Amino acid sequence: MSLEKAFNKHLDLDGHEMPPSPASSSPSSEKKYSLATELVYTDAGDQYNASSMPIYQSATFKGEGNSYDYTRSGNPTRTHLERHMAKIMNAHRALVVSSGMAALDVITRLLKPGDEVVTGDDLYGGSNRLLKFLGTHGGIIVHHVDTTTPETVAAALSEKTAMVLLETPTNPLMKIVDIQTLSALSHKANPNAIVVVDNTMLSPYLQNPLDLGADVVYESGTKYLSGHHDVMAGVIATNSPDLGEKLYFPINASGCGLSPFDSWLLLRGVKTLAIRMEKQQQNAMAIASFLEGHGFKVRYPGLKSHPQYTLHWSQARGAGAVLSFETGSIATSERIVQAARLFGISVSFGCVNSLISMPCRMSHASIDPATRKERALPEDIIRLCIGIEDIGDLLDDLQQALVRAGAVTITQDGIEALEASAGETKQTTKLTDEP
Ligand code: PLP
Repeated sequence: MSLEKAFNKHLDLDGHEMPPSPASSSPSSEKKYSLATELVYTDAGDQYNASSMPIYQSATFKGEGNSYDYTRSGNPTRTHLERHMAKIMNAHRALVVSSGMAALDVITRLLKPGDEVVTGDDLYGGSNRLLKFLGTHGGIIVHHVDTTTPETVAAALSEKTAMVLLETPTNPLMKIVDIQTLSALSHKANPNAIVVVDNTMLSPYLQNPLDLGADVVYESGTKYLSGHHDVMAGVIATNSPDLGEKLYFPINASGCGLSPFDSWLLLRGVKTLAIRMEKQQQNAMAIASFLEGHGFKVRYPGLKSHPQYTLHWSQARGAGAVLSFETGSIATSERIVQAARLFGISVSFGCVNSLISMPCRMSHASIDPATRKERALPEDIIRLCIGIEDIGDLLDDLQQALVRAGAVTITQDGIEALEASAGETKQTTKLTDEP
């Protein structure tokens, strides 16, 4: 399909220049409802009044000059999801692709050899890996800096900065990055610099980077957006029609657009985002308080002890459901992870089930130990990704894991005391591989 045809300049009710969707994603009353309502609203508009958006499981569409001809270029189920995502991400345009990493891959295709990228020193391991590859194979110069300090970022910015890639909260260190300040600094250094934010950790339910000055936001749809770990997806959103077209190009050219069935799964999953996220962060807060109350060093932006608590709440509406804590010993951390029964040992997050992992052994294993040390990533850190289970069951499970691992002791008064095991750094069994 030609670009002209894909963008046939038919503006829909929400102002999107996209092929028509068989169903409207917004109530026709033109009233803007709250996000929880907009998330569930789709009007199937199907010839048989199907309540659920039909899956157009077809690679080709007959005829000439029609809105759709080939699914690599466009598919009605995917378009419908893209309009729905644009609506809930406060964006002019959203594009859905086969994974969160495919989203970053599409975004980095905006770069040319010699371009400079300024980014964080606590990035998701997969993003780090892709940027490293672009550095060695694509002639891109990548500067990893501490993005929590605007002065450090300012020192790395110049007119050669083509892209600034931010993540907040970072994972697993839960560092907060000031999106508004860094967007302004980046655009001041180079008005054409593209500020990109990975919003996977919070989802559009809790944070809208485009409203804070970012040019492009992307998320792994594999996480909160879908919520059930049954689909891989990535979503990219922008308010710039020009960037929207540039981002569509590699998707059409390479065929990484989300398949019709996966588009349908993501559309189904995202409808429950509000209710899942509310419950998940309520559980996360209880668990973070429990761990902090027992003397562990906990990183969670919902806790007042978080050093950037005020900054976080100035740009987000919630703390999310990922937290991390340290035990002072790799071996103790490993025992806790192995002893947990309800918490699945797994990479990833955002699922309705609670998960536990040691990032240095799993999601961040692709970052070499020397770099991890340089970036102050504690080897014993445990990441908890909290689900929607009963909070009593989660706390019981965590408590028994801490006791069995020897991380706490129960005294006669029923009070647990943190075992002093700091300083131990020996590694034992390998848990699982980075995907
Ligand atoms: N961004 C963050 C913060 C992530 O944690 C992940 C995956 O864990 C990704 C991006 C990549 O997403 P995906 O696994 O869907 O490719």
